[in-house]
Amino acid sequence: MSRHGLLGLTTPLWPIRYKPLPDELLSCWLVRLAHGHGMKVQTFCNLLFGNRLQVWNRDIDRLAPAWLLDALVLHTGTPADVAYGTTLRVFEGLLYPKFRLSGHLPWIQNLQMYHRTRQGFGQQYCPACLASDEVPYFRKTWRLSLKTFCVSHNCQLLDRCQACGAAVSFHRMDMGRAELLPDAPLSACHACGFDLASARREPPRVIDEEAFGALANIVDAMDAVATGGLSDLQAGTLAVLRHMTVMMLSRKQKLHLLQYMADLFGEPTPEIAAASRPTIEAQSLTTRHVLLLWSTWLLCLPSQRLAQAWTSGAFRYSHLMRDFVAPPSWYVTHVVDYIQRHSLDDRGRQPLLELGVEARRSTAAVRTQAPSGTGVTTPSKRMLSMRVGLPLRLLKKVS
Ligand SMILES: [Zn+2]
Ligand SMILES: [Zn+2]
Repeated sequence: MSRHGLLGLTTPLWPIRYKPLPDELLSCWLVRLAHGHGMKVQTFCNLLFGNRLQVWNRDIDRLAPAWLLDALVLHTGTPADVAYGTTLRVFEGLLYPKFRLSGHLPWIQNLQMYHRTRQGFGQQYCPACLASDEVPYFRKTWRLSLKTFCVSHNCQLLDRCQACGAAVSFHRMDMGRAELLPDAPLSACHACGFDLASARREPPRVIDEEAFGALANIVDAMDAVATGGLSDLQAGTLAVLRHMTVMMLSRKQKLHLLQYMADLFGEPTPEIAAASRPTIEAQSLTTRHVLLLWSTWLLCLPSQRLAQAWTSGAFRYSHLMRDFVAPPSWYVTHVVDYIQRHSLDDRGRQPLLELGVEARRSTAAVRTQAPSGTGVTTPSKRMLSMRVGLPLRLLKKVS
């Protein structure tokens, strides 16, 4: 009898048929299944899929190969939608319009796979969640750039082992070890054995109460989506949020939003990871947290706060739309158009001049270009203080 048969792995239903835990990642579920059968991860996968289909040299939580998911559906008796719900594709349509197998994906932390090792710190965790789990496991939302803290535990996430600094690689905890450690939880660091669940816990920095509350609502909404629940969070809101981080991270001339925010809050400018076009996904946890708080702060009163930033020379009018694919209508109406109208009358300048294509138009000509239905009303300081377009404030707390 073959080894397969002995272990019962060729029968439709495996002896161990764990189901995914709430918000559990596919990779974590697979490791639990292997260990549940008393096998090393690599051995388990080789038995199932042979050497031809490599599992661990890729980011399976993102790539989610159908042959792997279908095998888990067949052998564990898990409903297909639940199994397929363990991948990062569940955020399609909310975090990014269309899922892509390769290249950059907005809001998804990159693991920077190199063979089977993870060079990047894309797998975050909440030590308090791991400590309170009956069986410690890793969540999909811990792969998201916009989740920098756990709302349930008011705890800053971590992205590496506090003892040795290694990136989290729970799939490698039994590699290179002669004996499988059957009782070792997945929260043990693969490199040094330190229990990540016992890592020192820090509350997240708040900086601004309102912005922190809004960001907590967004994190709550992502948690709800990740567990198959509903949320009233709009994709457009997240797109604008990300565009704010794009503007802060940009190295374009005349774009000083990052410095402006730092000065406004009396903070040093956060350290930006070097790249020709830095993105939020490539930044450290600390930097992401600050950028997200500043961005949510801007979006709590978007027209007023962005107009003030623009008036202070933090960016040019054109930056509001540059490289922004499909911005939501509230942003165009209440922020972009609003600043354009405001700029015409309050500063006596033509915003379209900044686009570089309307240089010879007179002020009158520009006025006729104003968006239909809005007209060019007399601006006013009062208008600036009006609260229009409050996507974040309108977000209801998801219970
Ligand atoms: Zn937690
Ligand atoms: Zn370690």
